[in-house]
Amino acid sequence: MITTSPRARQLEPRTWQQELAEAITSPEELAAALGLSAADLAGVVAAGQHFRLRVPRSFVARMRRGDPRDPLLRQVLPVAAELAHEAEYVADPVGESAALRTPALLQKYRGRALLITTQACAVHCRYCFRREFPYTEQSGDAPRWSEALSAIAADPSLEEIILSGGDPLSLTNARLENLTRALAAIPHVRRIRVHTRQPVVLPARVDEGLLHWLRTSTRPIVVVLHVNHPNELDAELAAACAKLRATGVTLLNQSVLLAGVNDDAQALADLSLRLFEAGVLPYYLHALDRVRGAAHFAVPDERARALAGQLAARLPGYLVPRLVREEPGAAAKLGLGTTF
Ligand SMILES: *Cc1c(COP(=O)(O)O)cnc(C)c1O
Ligand code: SF4
Repeated sequence: MITTSPRARQLEPRTWQQELAEAITSPEELAAALGLSAADLAGVVAAGQHFRLRVPRSFVARMRRGDPRDPLLRQVLPVAAELAHEAEYVADPVGESAALRTPALLQKYRGRALLITTQACAVHCRYCFRREFPYTEQSGDAPRWSEALSAIAADPSLEEIILSGGDPLSLTNARLENLTRALAAIPHVRRIRVHTRQPVVLPARVDEGLLHWLRTSTRPIVVVLHVNHPNELDAELAAACAKLRATGVTLLNQSVLLAGVNDDAQALADLSLRLFEAGVLPYYLHALDRVRGAAHFAVPDERARALAGQLAARLPGYLVPRLVREEPGAAAKLGLGTTF
């Protein structure tokens, strides 16, 4: 489905920065764009006070009009349930503060470390486990990076650096190039990984400069996208994926299993099949991290395993993402297993 409006197609293509600046941040505007009523928005304003609504228009264009239960809308719309207190749901559910090696460098697993490059995201996902991450104002600034780069350079065991955030593709292409050039200057850094949702919610982000950066990297780059529902993968995103693939990067996807969004074998199977058609292999299906405000997205483990079983029973193994949970202190993401 082509989702660009006829009017937009007559104009010059928008740059991703323009699209980002025009993202919807008001619940009323989002409701109006989707033909929803004020009653559909009960509780939205209070819930969005600390972690604001934010969604690019190109993502809104993939939502069904007039459907308050649309699976894409549910991922971004603040709802009153976020304010409910649930004892197990905390600010730092995966123990990240204990894993900080420098203020911007997180290491939990052998051989790879994760660099918090920015706090900015094009979209605010309500279930985000970093929704309360204590990003400092300097996060992403040169002093933070140089401290992290020094720590990486001093530790020959770090073979892979993961750019994360926030969304690393919120950075300009020039800053990304500078950062990866600095990483590639460290001989023991063999691979660079980019965890990003930005091409998904804002396909215009896949511009010539970004492709040039990926094409000319002197280290192999693995791009891990974050698509949760097949409706997110429209023709525009598929075209962006094709361009990414043509640069030679490895393209993977991770999803979060979310009640009311993708806790359904058919939706998960369709997602895997569409990803494959777009040249992307499914990597992880994450059980929800228990972050404050996200309890209404939880899927019980038994049901998650059963869904994984249904998926495995109908797809080739390479299209079945691994169902995992992040446990603080564990040596890797833990497989939750499969039941048939
Ligand atoms: C998830 C994560 C990784 C990546 O783990 P893989 O299993 O290699 O995908 C690395 N570092 C941290 C801190 C993580 O949370
Ligand atoms: S794009 Fe990723 S980091 Fe940003 S809010 Fe969504 S899940 Fe969180």
